[in-house]
Amino acid sequence: MLLERNESFGRETSSRNSEVIHTGIYYPTGSLKAKLCVEGNPLAYRFCEKWGIAHHRCGKLIVANTPAESASLDELYIQAVANGVGDLEALDASQVVRLEPHLQATSALLSPSTGIIDSHGLMARLEQISLQNGVLPAYCHQVQAIEPLSEGYRVRFQNPDGSIDTIDTHYLINCAGLQADHVAGMAGIAVDEAGYRQHLCKGEYFHLPQSKAALVSRLVYPPPLHELTGLGIHVTKTIDGRLRLGPNAIYIDVEDYSVDSDHAVDFFSTAKTFLPFLAAADLQPEMAGIRPKLSRPGEPFRDFVIREESDRGLPGLINLIGIESPGLTCCLSIARLVGRMIP
Ligand SMILES: Cc1cc2nc3c(=O)[nH]c(=O)nc-3n(C[C@H](O)[C@H](O)[C@H](O)COP(=O)(O)OP(=O)(O)OC[C@H]3O[C@@H](n4cnc5c(N)ncnc54)[C@H](O)[C@@H]3O)c2cc1C
Repeated sequence: MLLERNESFGRETSSRNSEVIHTGIYYPTGSLKAKLCVEGNPLAYRFCEKWGIAHHRCGKLIVANTPAESASLDELYIQAVANGVGDLEALDASQVVRLEPHLQATSALLSPSTGIIDSHGLMARLEQISLQNGVLPAYCHQVQAIEPLSEGYRVRFQNPDGSIDTIDTHYLINCAGLQADHVAGMAGIAVDEAGYRQHLCKGEYFHLPQSKAALVSRLVYPPPLHELTGLGIHVTKTIDGRLRLGPNAIYIDVEDYSVDSDHAVDFFSTAKTFLPFLAAADLQPEMAGIRPKLSRPGEPFRDFVIREESDRGLPGLINLIGIESPGLTCCLSIARLVGRMIP
């Protein structure tokens, strides 16, 4: 049974992101983010091919324009190889221009197996397959409380008409996204002590006019020099061929998906360094997504938490906490890992 508080799937983070199939370049070697991304990337492509989901293995350039950025590319290359990402190519300025004549870069890394995916199509297909396999999706059903039983859990939830029901289960998978820390707390876990407290970090997007969309054919990222909370404001193509910039990283206290048009100035000054054709008037507010981050601003890297909680006295409870990027890329590899936790 899938208990989902919204009226359908994908109304939160899974439909408010860059829709990039990442490769696993950036994350510390051995982390779940690195391992599940390296595993999840080919799984995502195979799934798309098998089920006819729109995707485009367009590739990505990480571009440098200063000596510091170029040194950062060297480090990224080493990190990527250590993570098992073996297909990166180092390019000089003339090679970049041959691939992307409208870009400004003194050097770059090309990641050929980065791509984009129709996340809605992916989720719709996953829903269909789960239905065929006997999953009962219960939309507009909000989990409100979890009571550990001598064996398993009693989950209390609100029905669409406001009435309350319960269901008993041996296995409970908490993949509640932005609310996952809260749901773990319902089961009796001391959220702060466990290191499960999530911090909301908004990422805004601005789109560019269609006249500029044809000027870039790959995704373009700066090296993650100054931005520890995300991968830096980058250029992504949408599956329908639009070009957009984003996301930034702003910690917020409450869920709020508004886009502050004043932030266009920061986006413009960052992106102008590698997109010389950009004009300030090109940027139009588009949408925002929210990352469930385990680290506060300035704190070091935190990995995904994907954990069966027997050692906390909660057997059969599997928590997925801090599933920020590259969670979309990893959705199938995460599912495999969770599946292995259930005998
Ligand atoms: C700005 C941004 C850009 C990103 N870009 C990328 C990218 O390019 N590539 C990539 O791989 N990843 C990316 N990600 C990460 C990716 O989007 C997420 O990791 C992934 O979508 C998380 O999926 P989820 O199922 O854990 O969360 P969600 O999609 O948020 O699903 C959780 C669900 O739980 C439900 N829920 C919560 N509480 C309850 C309750 N009490 N009862 C019932 N239901 C409940 C919610 O309604 C929600 O539908 C990005 C994220 C952001 C924010």
